[in-house]
Amino acid sequence: MSSKRTIESVQAQQEDLTVRIISLLKEKEKERTIRKVALQFPEGLKRKAHGISEALRRAGYEIVISGEPCWGACDLDLDLMKNSDILIHIGHAPVDERENVIYEYFSQDFDISRLEGVIPSIESKIVGLITTIQHVHLLDDIIQFFSDRGIECVIAKGSERTPFKGQVLGCTYDAAKNTGCSEIVYIGTGLFHPLGVHLATGARVVAFDPYTGRTEIPDERRMLIKRHALIEKAKEARSFGILLSKKSGQRREELAKRLEGLSDKADIIEIGEITPDALLNFGYDVYVNTACPRLAYDDQARFPVPVLSPQEFEIVCGAREWEEFEIDEIT
Ligand code: SF4
Repeated sequence: MSSKRTIESVQAQQEDLTVRIISLLKEKEKERTIRKVALQFPEGLKRKAHGISEALRRAGYEIVISGEPCWGACDLDLDLMKNSDILIHIGHAPVDERENVIYEYFSQDFDISRLEGVIPSIESKIVGLITTIQHVHLLDDIIQFFSDRGIECVIAKGSERTPFKGQVLGCTYDAAKNTGCSEIVYIGTGLFHPLGVHLATGARVVAFDPYTGRTEIPDERRMLIKRHALIEKAKEARSFGILLSKKSGQRREELAKRLEGLSDKADIIEIGEITPDALLNFGYDVYVNTACPRLAYDDQARFPVPVLSPQEFEIVCGAREWEEFEIDEIT
């Protein structure tokens, strides 16, 4: 695709998005007056803020844009919500329902024929099919594509955090578990989701990246060796900081309190954005993450001390055996 066409298609997508947002606002205005509209974008879409803000201002709304980091629909700008009539959260499907929030997720197309590349790696005639929110709108076409090649796909409803059939998040793999299949095809980028699905289901997972055309079978061994080493190191810790998130859809207070009760060396730390800098001055030997599960697994390299999952902390405290290792999910 030429860069001119790319720019045109991105502009068209943005115009569609703005038209949809204005029509959703008009719909809401049948119930109540909306003047001040807050806009929130995840990191990868923040550059769309100006164009959308400009269009909404022209439509007569007062606009304020959240400048906070945002990683998911679990991360609503609660302060901004208090000072505006409605929050428009762009880029993700809801993880919970909220009266004053409009969620406008972002779809991304890819050329379905690229899936030809994954066919030789699939072993079963019936497979579970999962993807991320960007591609759920393509699932019917993907099912047809596989069906034409003799492979039946099962797509299942996940948890309340994933409103679309076949949709997974890095904090919930129910849409994979509920297929009941021993082989699952994941369409999307990165290896975190397929690895999580493999650990959560025990199924063989075939991961296909629709942009690179690459197929991978995630192998959990390297990850488990690293997690085991962190657990062993944590057994020598003199202090544990249990991280309790202030974020709208990441707060697991009951879990944090239960974990605190497992050790007299543990304190609960309430925190918004969890970064190495934010933890630096506390100086705990080990942190236990009850916020977004990906933080402990994906971001460990950024932290100078172990950041354990709740299940790993249970192993450290003797409340769970290593053989009962489970990937953390928000339920
Ligand atoms: S908790 Fe983490 S994985 Fe789940 S929606 Fe939020 S950012 Fe995504």
